[in-house]
Amino acid sequence: MTLNIFKPIRYLVIIATALALSMSIHSVPTVYAVEHDTITIVQQTVKIDYGNKITISITITSGIDSVESVRALFKPRGGSTVWSYSYPEFSTSHMGISLNVEIPTGPGSYYPPGTEFDIEIEIVDAEGSVSTAKSDESIQYLDPSKNWKNAKGNGFSIFYYGIRSSKVENLIEQVNSRIPMLQKVSGVSKTPEFKAIVFPSVQEATPSFPPISRTATDQLFFAGFAQPQYRLFVQGQVNTSTFIHELAHLYVHESVSSSRTGRIPSWLSEGLAVFLETGQSKSSNERLRSSVQPDGLLPLRNMNTVPGQRDDVFIFYPQAGAFVGYLIEKYGADTMARYLAGIDKGQAVLKNFNEVYGRSIYEVENDWRSNFNATPITIPSPTSEPDKTIEHSIRSTPVPLVDYRTISKRTSNTTTPTSTLSPLITVAENSDATGRNNISTRSSSNQLVSALTIILSIIIGLCFIAFLYRNYKPNS
Ligand SMILES: [Zn+2]
Repeated sequence: MTLNIFKPIRYLVIIATALALSMSIHSVPTVYAVEHDTITIVQQTVKIDYGNKITISITITSGIDSVESVRALFKPRGGSTVWSYSYPEFSTSHMGISLNVEIPTGPGSYYPPGTEFDIEIEIVDAEGSVSTAKSDESIQYLDPSKNWKNAKGNGFSIFYYGIRSSKVENLIEQVNSRIPMLQKVSGVSKTPEFKAIVFPSVQEATPSFPPISRTATDQLFFAGFAQPQYRLFVQGQVNTSTFIHELAHLYVHESVSSSRTGRIPSWLSEGLAVFLETGQSKSSNERLRSSVQPDGLLPLRNMNTVPGQRDDVFIFYPQAGAFVGYLIEKYGADTMARYLAGIDKGQAVLKNFNEVYGRSIYEVENDWRSNFNATPITIPSPTSEPDKTIEHSIRSTPVPLVDYRTISKRTSNTTTPTSTLSPLITVAENSDATGRNNISTRSSSNQLVSALTIILSIIIGLCFIAFLYRNYKPNS
């Protein structure tokens, strides 16, 4: 009898030890675990070496006598951006702790103009306790040699130079009148403030475009590009329809941003942007009818990414706009918003289409093709094109940074953009997390440790109950 009582006690001791061990793993002091907001940034000066780096000189007052280490963290503002950090040199004096934080913005560390950075400084003292100072002022990355002005629209701000203010006011008025349509189609009524950086010409904008587009922009191939992760876009001219096109990309990105990838097939993202330029399918339909033979239309299943072939690019945009316009005009803007909301909740693009529209996307595609006297495409059987394949291709489809939009007929003899664009865009999108010397990305390892500890504790607890049960049963 006594033995039978001691046996579970022995287990209890083992389990308690294991629990204590796992708790101690959890409570190992980490840089984020203990924070005292007892230090403040009293001075901050920003020097922008545009296209190269941002240097922020900071002075912090603190009562800390022995500074062990100083860590500088920065994060571009946006929906899913991450913190990067470095350990800068520092000096202490009667003024406090002084240091220079550098944010690289040169080749390999591209950030678009208008990117706003938040800064935090963490100081560890000799006892290992951590103090954090947050900067009240964000740092906006713009070429300091330009005389930037800004103006506000409904849910967006425009930063510009070298353009008459009246022209910008006029643009804002036109864009404002289109916001209700953007909200209705995307299903997003409350957005974070978006930002547009507008240059007086494409030539002036070119050095600020992502590196991947620079060779093409030599040929005036790009008019603008959206960077949804930073909630901004850059434009090389004042043009209402391209402005709304880029703004639509930001709205649509917000509408699907909680999905696993935040990405949708290009026919849908570009189709929405092209359609919303005018809010009608008419212009896209006319362009298709005048420049594409009925059987030159692209099958929708080949439109998950923007095509690499130049000729196809010129079919792709009006066709995407015309098809999405058909969906919105026939089935309603609210249906499109519901479709996007389904994708946002993690529904597969094709399956969700069936559920929302009540028919397969390929059946609807054939209805649409018949309007152009194009022969129907063979409807793929569900087994031949499972959602998994589609999802894979969606994952590799970046939300377009770059628009293959002609702004001049001169582009008709430009070089073909190659399919290498996609991987390069991915690198550009991830550039804030990779490829930097002395700059690391803040990880979520603390959360991981907590989760593991909890799981471990539950498993141990369950094992203990199982042991007790097995050991007591025969004797009771
Ligand atoms: Zn676009």
